[in-house]
Amino acid sequence: MSPSIVSAVYLLAGILFILGIKGLTKPKTAVRGNQLSALGMLIAVVVTLLDSSIVDFSFIIAGVLIGGIVGATMALKIQMTSMPQMVALLNGFGGGASLTIALAEYFSKVGADPSSFAQLVTPIAVESSAFGAGPEGTVALISIGLTVLIGAVTLTGSFVAFAKLQELMKKSYGLPGGPIGNALFLAAALVAVVLLVTNPGNSLAMLSIVALALLLGLFLVMPIGGADMPVVIALLNSYSGIAAALAGFILGNTVLIVAGSLVGTSGLILTQIMCVAMNRSLANVLFGKMAAGGETVDADEIYAGKVTSAQPDEIAMMLEVAKRVVIVPGYGMAMAQAQHAVRELADAMESRGTEVEYGIHPVAGRMPGHMNVLLAEAEVPYDKLVEMDRINPTFEDTDVVIIIGANDVTNPMARESEGSPIYGMPILNVDKAKNVVVIKRSLSPGFAGLPNPLFAMDHCLMVYGDGKKAVIDMTTALNQS
Ligand code: NDP
Repeated sequence: MSPSIVSAVYLLAGILFILGIKGLTKPKTAVRGNQLSALGMLIAVVVTLLDSSIVDFSFIIAGVLIGGIVGATMALKIQMTSMPQMVALLNGFGGGASLTIALAEYFSKVGADPSSFAQLVTPIAVESSAFGAGPEGTVALISIGLTVLIGAVTLTGSFVAFAKLQELMKKSYGLPGGPIGNALFLAAALVAVVLLVTNPGNSLAMLSIVALALLLGLFLVMPIGGADMPVVIALLNSYSGIAAALAGFILGNTVLIVAGSLVGTSGLILTQIMCVAMNRSLANVLFGKMAAGGETVDADEIYAGKVTSAQPDEIAMMLEVAKRVVIVPGYGMAMAQAQHAVRELADAMESRGTEVEYGIHPVAGRMPGHMNVLLAEAEVPYDKLVEMDRINPTFEDTDVVIIIGANDVTNPMARESEGSPIYGMPILNVDKAKNVVVIKRSLSPGFAGLPNPLFAMDHCLMVYGDGKKAVIDMTTALNQS
């Protein structure tokens, strides 16, 4: 196939990837965005296969069939609540794919047989020119070393993230010395990359990079708490993209460089957005604890004698006369699987002429877009999901805010208590509404482990119970009134 046709098709695939990512920025265009990116990838794969002088297609067809069946089965079977685990696995496979590309390229160039251990550990005389002439050979070797390093870290790190989210690994383990131990491991792996670049036949250096990086992936993620995993997954997603882009340099494949760079940068941007929305630095997520360094706050002092509770039918009476209601979902709505019940309550209010909107905080729940996904599953129209910056100015004109299983994202301490660990985290200003109703099972804290002064405010009513049951009871009472 003529190189200019291949380049033109790769350019088209790159444009489709970019349009796809743009589509993913809005719920309405997200499905089409996904389809455009998938089409771009299909075109890129087909052209690469037609262009490369691959003699035996049977392995490729078998791989596509087996991978396609496994992938489709996983995607169809997975529960919405288990989506972060699925993403973790896919990131891991991405890193693993780049790792194997780099290893295959390396061993084929040095002429060692990877199935013979003796050949693997015996240094052989290989010039860097075996990887390309002049500086090209050095660039190819650096790319191979770094792809192996980043790909292997992504592989094991993502599998640990999966195990934590699936609750297969409940404890946190780490290297003695924490970040310093990890830094030493990373330094050793980088030294091995330098040894490989200066002496390409040193396959022992290559094996050391693989072993050190696989262990580093484990040690980096094992100490991090399960609830912080979504941030880690966004970061690992970015690593898998960087590894793929580097693999593109090894193979001289432009479309892989473009696709890898897009994944790498969008993963980094997402990591940054999540850190800002949680008011935490990446270092704090990776090496620290949420409440470290903050003032200790006494829940009894905040709540004692000041919390008022109510029953669902009392809330229904309030909703009967409300003109505008905002529903604020949080992690507890996901736990209670209350999204369908919430939509039914909204339908009941709307049928009485009440204006209903949903206030969505960027880190409500435990993964980016968690609330949007659940509410979309319950067929809540996208235009009713209003982002924090747009809903905040409307709370003063809101008669009732119903908070269901959300806590940290509504905590006024983030605005007012300078010593608090969540100080500075942007929140939904629900306390500005005329009435606030909070549905949760108890006064227990949320992810940040802090009491919430909102619950003790005069215009706040607590409805204790499981989110789904409480919402269903409210809807029944409202429909009967
Ligand atoms: P929180 O973790 O602050 O609070 C959730 C509340 O839900 C709890 O207080 C709990 O109270 C209640 N709850 C649990 N189960 C149920 C149930 N079955 N029925 C009713 N209520 C229930 O959640 P938010 O969504 O407000 O905040 C998210 C937090 O997670 C933030 O601190 C954020 O930084 C963090 N985070 C978010 C990530 C993301 O990507 N979205 C990633 C990592 C962290 P009770 O036990 O009394 O019922």
